[in-house]
Amino acid sequence: MTVSQQDERSAVNDSVSSRPKLAVFKFASCDGCQLSLLDCEDELLAVAGAVEIAYFLEATRRTLEGPYDVTLVEGSITTEEDRKRIREVRKQSKRLITIGACATSGGIQALRNFADVGDFIRAVYAEPRYIRTLATSTAISDHVPVDYELRGCPIDKHQLLEVLLAALQGRTPAVRSHSVCIECKARGTTCLMVSKGSACLGPVTHAGCNALCPSYDRPCFGCFGPAESCNATSLVEHLRACGASDLELTRLYATFNVAAPAFVPAHRLVARTSSASHPPSVPEGEQS
Ligand code: SF4
Ligand code: SF4
Ligand code: SF4
Repeated sequence: MTVSQQDERSAVNDSVSSRPKLAVFKFASCDGCQLSLLDCEDELLAVAGAVEIAYFLEATRRTLEGPYDVTLVEGSITTEEDRKRIREVRKQSKRLITIGACATSGGIQALRNFADVGDFIRAVYAEPRYIRTLATSTAISDHVPVDYELRGCPIDKHQLLEVLLAALQGRTPAVRSHSVCIECKARGTTCLMVSKGSACLGPVTHAGCNALCPSYDRPCFGCFGPAESCNATSLVEHLRACGASDLELTRLYATFNVAAPAFVPAHRLVARTSSASHPPSVPEGEQS
């Protein structure tokens, strides 16, 4: 390589390293939220031009050491190794943003929080003795300080881009925290709860999907987690009055955000007031 070629390469490297470093880490999860970033087809090149992708194993094997300017974390904490690793990730990250129901509330895997994880392990694995796991699945914010939580299962890619842009610009993301019902009204969808008595979690669910399910004549099942200041227990009684069965109610609150603190009291209320018991039961006093 000639001296001028070396200078040229060095100049390129300098310009690359001057961009903010982005890292994406995975914990217990299905990868769906990370894929939302790769799914930003029209915007991906602009993102790749604005940041240096320093750690993102879903996209590239090339990795750079921290510190990182912006870190996205997908997944929940389910092992002792996770607990240690998330502390290291936090130390290396100027801004840490959690993405998706797994990272923000423990995900569907948090069903174990309300049962005996040993029962699940014995039912699923042929050799349970090789499985090492915690008894609970918990949100990242239960372990380290988090700068922003983006909800959804999976997250909405437009909200992700806004959160990423806001982090790079040092401002608060313009992500609305109202319920799915507001989005439903804004797009002119007929309310399924009013017109059909459907058991819809829209009134207590965080916006972000543009009320996707009701627009296809399907009630919301809460995949974006709790809306800000929602009253999930109050909705239980209303849904019962609409004709929702105990089993339907149990299942509604036992999905991706089962351990979200705003949903747990509703889940517990359903279990306490059901005429029959349906798994998973929610012990009194159990916290996510
Ligand atoms: S929140 Fe949903 S889509 Fe995202 S990683 Fe967890 S299970 Fe997958
Ligand atoms: S259909 Fe569901 S989300 Fe839409 S307005 Fe009615 S209760 Fe709210
Ligand atoms: S309507 Fe509810 S269940 Fe459907 S995508 Fe939106 S938040 Fe998720």
